[in-house]
Amino acid sequence: MDTKISLVQNGALQKVGSVFVEAFGRSPALLIADGNTQRVAGFAVARSLEQSGIEVRQLVFPANPQPYADEHSIAQVRLSLQMDTSIAVVLGSGTLNDITKRASSELDRPYMVVATAPSVDGYTSYGAAVSIGGFKQTLPCAAPTVVLADTQILCESPSEMIASGFGDCMAKFAAGMDWILADLLGLQAIRDDVWTMVQKPLRQVYQQHQGIAKRETRAIGQLFDALSASGFAMQIMHDSRPASGAEHLISHIWEMEHLSKDGQPVSHGFKVAVGTLASVFLYENLLNLDTWDCYGNPIERWEEREASLKAFFTDEKVADQTLAIAKSKFLEEDALLERRKAISVMLPTLKERITEQLPPYQELKHAMQLVGCPVHPREINASLEDLKRAMVGAQMIRNRYTILDLYYELGLFDQALLCIEGM
Ligand SMILES: [Zn+2]
Repeated sequence: MDTKISLVQNGALQKVGSVFVEAFGRSPALLIADGNTQRVAGFAVARSLEQSGIEVRQLVFPANPQPYADEHSIAQVRLSLQMDTSIAVVLGSGTLNDITKRASSELDRPYMVVATAPSVDGYTSYGAAVSIGGFKQTLPCAAPTVVLADTQILCESPSEMIASGFGDCMAKFAAGMDWILADLLGLQAIRDDVWTMVQKPLRQVYQQHQGIAKRETRAIGQLFDALSASGFAMQIMHDSRPASGAEHLISHIWEMEHLSKDGQPVSHGFKVAVGTLASVFLYENLLNLDTWDCYGNPIERWEEREASLKAFFTDEKVADQTLAIAKSKFLEEDALLERRKAISVMLPTLKERITEQLPPYQELKHAMQLVGCPVHPREINASLEDLKRAMVGAQMIRNRYTILDLYYELGLFDQALLCIEGM
């Protein structure tokens, strides 16, 4: 694993300097923050580094508009790093971390993250979720060498950020279910150690949802640990499969479309929260499926598929990238029939596994509501039509088997879109 030191404790902020020295020696540091995180802990982090004899420069993004993870922000950090041999210390949550992770990786330098909120699992993941030329993708790059989080700061973080992290954590129910599905179809085998790493803490956090809603230090620490664990799982696999399924693909479409509410981009965790409930809802609906539903429903021919894709992605470059992906997963007649057979054979097992893996939709929804997650698209300024659109796009953008592919290949995608109106 890239991550060598992970320190999550009360008062950890005072140890930034000593931990930095332990990991990187006496290199100078470039502290990267935005207006908000600078205000919360910028001074404490800079002081701790300086007290350890580290020379510190700072690069502070404005609080408003919030930094966006694209090639421009990445270039800004990279240029600043290139001024000397500094190691980046990023103070912030998801987006800033992704920007810094990618910029550091382009220069082949390690970096350190000081987390300010338990808001995403991307702190510790391999790869950075960024938009290049408007296309949302996960670019390969090393995870941080050091992850440090002060539970005091985590508990004081804005409630929406805690709720976001809870949403990103609950996503592992749905992502796990998609992995089970891919495993049952022989498309991507489950790795037991990685599975346990993500799924065990997920269940603890789910049980603790009331404590998280009340910002109990222990529960918030558990949430951060669960999110970190799923990042570590992605590092081990060099793949986001253990932590990301249809719910994340739905959120990627919304990220590409810059979904915003009250002038602010909707957080990753909030988009994922709605995607998670949609996915769980679709799985629950699958419990009503009979073997004979697996046959006889027509799907698009490739030419029609191509046309749908081009209609969806109006940007030519994005359409081209997506076409290649869609082509690689498109099943022609015989292959499609084979797949439908495989699905119908494993259907009883799949239903059992759905019941084991997923909490009942209403129960999950209630827990998410209590913590402050959005549970309906309208709460993130999207309509049901927007959700349906995102589902259509989500099924196109990645060659990763999910519940959306299952519905698509069975010729039941329209039925899934209709069904989602009931969520
Ligand atoms: Zn996520």
